[in-house]
Amino acid sequence: MPRQFFVGGNFKMNPASREAKRTLIKTLNDAALDPSVGAQITFRFLTVYLTKDVKVAAQNCYVKLSGAFTGEISPSQLADAGIPYVVLGHSERRTLFHESSELVAQKTRVALDNGLSVILCVGETLSEREAEKTKEVVEKQLEPVTQQLKEADWQKIVIAYEPVWAIGTGKVASSAQAQQAHADIRAFLVKAVSPAVAESTRIIYGGSVTASNCKELATQKDVDGFLVGGASLKPEFVDIINATK
Ligand code: PEP
Repeated sequence: MPRQFFVGGNFKMNPASREAKRTLIKTLNDAALDPSVGAQITFRFLTVYLTKDVKVAAQNCYVKLSGAFTGEISPSQLADAGIPYVVLGHSERRTLFHESSELVAQKTRVALDNGLSVILCVGETLSEREAEKTKEVVEKQLEPVTQQLKEADWQKIVIAYEPVWAIGTGKVASSAQAQQAHADIRAFLVKAVSPAVAESTRIIYGGSVTASNCKELATQKDVDGFLVGGASLKPEFVDIINATK
């Protein structure tokens, strides 16, 4: 079965004003979005809007279900709020909040156990790429997840390959670089999980995707969609959702 193209918009802690938020949601509500694309938006906690074709995801969740963890939100609280997806392991979480791959894997387990699907982010830094360690770094990030998950769990995982050097920098990976990294991830899944999971798991690309580069990236065989930061705040996000049209 072909993998359904999947596009996520990561609003991070944006937009700052209520007016800008309204405009953005109106743009998405009014747009003709390709109905064959699974589109998700990641909102800040508790800032949930219902839109026509777009579903809401959270940008993070905690590894525990309840307790004295001020400022955190549990996967069960997200599920109770009707939020179907959570983004885990974003490079900003790994770097700024020191989240290890082991913690990301535990969070993934708990999120799945509580009914959420997970957009799982991996990716190398510039120095790791320059040292030709991309494959090794990404596999190390994925390994703890493969240990936590059973084969059936993978139906609820989307892997986002997001090279850190491309996030928010305007330096998009070339389509060849993206394709190579995605093909390597798929080959890793064959080995670490199963050929069936490798074939069915969506691997989306993130890092300076725009309306002008999305179409070429989308032609790559192993690029199954996008995770979009900056451009998801602009009307061009509609063109990115419709990249395969
Ligand atoms: C992101 O934050 O996940 C991202 C891909 O950002 P940008 O599109 O701005 O590079």
